Amino acid sequence: MRTFRCTCGNTLFFESSRCLSCGLDVGYDSMQDLMCPIDAHLKLCANGARHGVCNWLLPAASSAAFCLSCRLNRTIPDLGTEQNRLHWGLMEAAKRRLIHTLHALRIPLPSLKDDPQNGLAFDIVSTTLDPGVTMGHLNGVITVSLEEADDTWRQINRQQLGEASRTLLGHFRHESGHYLWNRFLSRLEWMAPERFAFREVFGNESFSYSDALQRHYQNGPPAGWQQQFITPYAAAHPWEDWAETWSHYVQMIDGLETGAQFGMPGSGAVLSAPPPESCTLPAVLASSTHREDNAFHELLQRWLNLVTVMNEISRSLGAPLLYPYIISPAAARKLRLAHHFASVWGAAPGTTSSDFMDS
Ligand SMILES: [Zn+2]
Ligand SMILES: [Zn+2]
Ligand SMILES: [Zn+2]
Repeated sequence: MRTFRCTCGNTLFFESSRCLSCGLDVGYDSMQDLMCPIDAHLKLCANGARHGVCNWLLPAASSAAFCLSCRLNRTIPDLGTEQNRLHWGLMEAAKRRLIHTLHALRIPLPSLKDDPQNGLAFDIVSTTLDPGVTMGHLNGVITVSLEEADDTWRQINRQQLGEASRTLLGHFRHESGHYLWNRFLSRLEWMAPERFAFREVFGNESFSYSDALQRHYQNGPPAGWQQQFITPYAAAHPWEDWAETWSHYVQMIDGLETGAQFGMPGSGAVLSAPPPESCTLPAVLASSTHREDNAFHELLQRWLNLVTVMNEISRSLGAPLLYPYIISPAAARKLRLAHHFASVWGAAPGTTSSDFMDS
């Protein structure tokens, strides 16, 4: 994520709602990708104005009340308690960051209401009130449990599930992977090149998902999972492998943008021709060129340089590693395919900047 500048010259952040130097009320204008003052041209999203949980703006003249992120909400939590409002605010902040990166990748995100075929909606619900609800994605609806915004709750879950890290942002990124798979890959013919490439890299996803999850929760990941998967959960089923890989890819894109903004270590990559096999696409995707593979190779090298610094900083602070992952060649190849899909989906027919604009 990049930083922004107030009219007074002070630095503003993606999360800012007021300039701490000049006191100006500001918000994020997703159409211009800028932090702007709230004025006669731009109004604050209704969830910001009413509940203080959103800092995105929309044209003052727009008949819409909600920003491009909040309008994707189908269910929001009961706001009867201050704690629920605070937790919801953390959820919305994570969701906006995901949506910003998907916009940056130029992947259009219609709402489920406007586009029942391809659209997206969010249910943010309390599982304490409704224990039958599980987090996940189904037919364009991403459900997240409000309790995950509670640090203690999330840490208990993290430890019980043996996860190296567990964040709200990670949840949203992971579920967006399921949504995009459903939208762009599930409807392709079984022998379509992209579907074929998916199977080659992630494995055959046609075996029972519920059996696979049950097996995973009973037995844990197979020994040596680190050689194949980015996280232990990715070993549960090719769908989860994909969602974990996609989440990691989106994290890389956001993290590299942040690193570039602050002048973090540059590439330093020694680009060989041909690039290593872990940076190539399956042969069935004949569109791949050495140039694209090398571009990904460079991206990956920049990321590895950046996370090395991040982890050394963690050690300097005596804190847990900020980046507790190892990217094996097999995991790199999965990220390479995610990179390819992102470019294809970002250039999909009908994808223009106007898709992100307020209509
Ligand atoms: Zn200012
Ligand atoms: Zn909003
Ligand atoms: Zn999943």
